[in-house]
Amino acid sequence: MNLIFLGPPGVGKGTQAKRIAEEYKLLNIATGDLLREAVKKKSPLGRKAEEIMARGELVPDELVFGLVKEQIGMNPKCQDRRGVLLDGFPRNVYQAEILDQYLKEIGEKINQVVYFQVSEEEIIQRLSARRVCKSCQANYNLLTQPPKKDNVCDYCGSTLTQRADDRPETIRERLKVYQKETAPLVEYYHKQGLLKEINGVGKVEEIHTLLKKLLPYGKNYSKN
Ligand code: AMP
Repeated sequence: MNLIFLGPPGVGKGTQAKRIAEEYKLLNIATGDLLREAVKKKSPLGRKAEEIMARGELVPDELVFGLVKEQIGMNPKCQDRRGVLLDGFPRNVYQAEILDQYLKEIGEKINQVVYFQVSEEEIIQRLSARRVCKSCQANYNLLTQPPKKDNVCDYCGSTLTQRADDRPETIRERLKVYQKETAPLVEYYHKQGLLKEINGVGKVEEIHTLLKKLLPYGKNYSKN
């Protein structure tokens, strides 16, 4: 089973993707996380991506698709996983088309796309309050999911930081890019009969439960 989690930045799809991937034994491919890792390592890709990401723009398609392909690898069943869960990819119609083509070549396809919806106001509030652990990348929200101790990661004790692209000016740019580039994917996948919508407002646990009801073959795939 291959899934895509689609929606604007800050909608909570990353948090849900990590849990669903674990439970359904899918390979979680989060292109934003992969790019941030490349930036941290100062790899050639990271050096190219850093400034683009800080501006809230999209990294060139071929570079990001290279990362996705590398993750999927030559093994269609993805390193003993039952498929992939893509979070943050595709981000425009061209990326969706090259993904479809690649999956076809390896005898796979997208089985379902989950579209997470929340209002723009809520997104700005969430992104402004997001903090990330410098070491283990755990996500917090100062309003809804704060760390136990101010500015310290509950899991590894490292300092929390704000992503460069979670500052107000960049948030606005990212939302503009989302509307122009990514929002057309809703229609793209709707036409293919693959789209399911979920309201992204609510507690992480509640959304997780709703999500599992939406996913195909939920009972057979999930551990629970
Ligand atoms: P995210 O963590 O998904 O919000 O992504 C953070 C940033 O990484 C985005 O604002 C883009 O600059 C870049 N990025 C992530 N995924 C993609 C993608 N599929 N195509 C182009 N740029 C991407």
